Amino acid sequence: MSPNIAKKQRFIGKTAIITGAGSGIGRATAIQLAREGANVALFDLVNERNFELEQKLNKLRKDCALALDVDTSDSERMEEAVRQTVDRFGGLDIVFANAGINGAVGPIEELSLSDWEHTMSVNLTGTFLTLKYSIPHLKKKGKGSIIITSSINGNSRFASFGWSPYSTTKAGQVAFAKMAALELAKFKIRVNVICPGAISTNIDESTEFNEEIGAIVIPIEFPEGAQPLADGPGKPDNVAELVSFLASDESIHITGAQIVIDGAESLLS
Ligand code: NAD
Repeated sequence: MSPNIAKKQRFIGKTAIITGAGSGIGRATAIQLAREGANVALFDLVNERNFELEQKLNKLRKDCALALDVDTSDSERMEEAVRQTVDRFGGLDIVFANAGINGAVGPIEELSLSDWEHTMSVNLTGTFLTLKYSIPHLKKKGKGSIIITSSINGNSRFASFGWSPYSTTKAGQVAFAKMAALELAKFKIRVNVICPGAISTNIDESTEFNEEIGAIVIPIEFPEGAQPLADGPGKPDNVAELVSFLASDESIHITGAQIVIDGAESLLS
C-alpha cells in the first residue's frame, strides 16, 4: 500500500504503538493507521526498512511517525521505547503487539534449549512486555485497544511439522489475550487477538530449519487452492484493515475475540 491521502480520519489525535513495524503486517498497519490520522510509534529491531517507513510517513503527515530501534523481548528497551513514545506524542491509545519470528523448526529432540527460548522470548515474552509497559498509559486515557497477532498455527492448524515452538507461542498468545481482555475490561481497554493464515510478508527470513526436519514430516497433500477465498496467500493490507477496525470505536463492544483471517485456509487443513 502506498501512503496516500486517507479516506477515513478516525484516529486523529490518537497514538498507536506497532511492534514489528518495519515489515509485512506491521508495516501495512502502520501505514493504514497513519493514513487514518494516527501518530504511529514504529518498534522494530535495527533495520533500514523501519527508518525508511518513518521518513515516508512523516512526508505524508508532518511528524506523525517515530521509528524506534527496540527488541520487544528486551524489558529495558521496551520500557524505554514506550516512554519515548508517550513523551513524543503525549499519550497512548492503540497497541498492536505484532512482532514475531518463525524461529527454529525441527524435531523436538533436536531443538536446543536456546532455539526454544529464542522463539518464546520474541513471540511470547515480547507480547507480555508490550502490554506490560503500555497498559499504564492506556489506563491514563480511560480506554484503549490492544490487538495481538497470533496465527492459525497452534490454534486451528497443527500440521506444520517441526513448528512446535512457534505454534506453542501462538497458542499462548491467544490465552494471554483472553486473560488480558477480562482483566482490563473494567478499564475500558479492549484486547483482541487475530489469527492470520498465510500472508505474503518477509516472515520466512526468520525461519531456521533443523536439518533433521525430514524425519518427522508426514506428507500431506493439500487440495489445490489452499486459501480458497483469495486463491493464494493474503496480503498484509487485508490484515491491516482488520487491525484498523479493531483499533477503532467501530468495534467498541468487541473484546477477547479471536478472529481468524485466512481466506478459509484453516478449514481445509
Ligand atoms: P515480517 O517478518 O514481514 O515482519 C515481522 C517484523 O517483526 C520484522 O520487521 C522484524 O524485524 C520484526 N521483529 C522480529 N523480531 C523482533 C523483535 N524481537 N523485536 C522487534 N521487532 C522484531 O513478518 P509478518 O508476517 O509481518 O509477521 C508479523 C506477525 O504475523 C508475526 O507475529 C507472525 O508470527 C504473524 N503471522 C504471520 C503470518 C504470515 O504468513 N506472514 C501468518 C500468521 C501469523
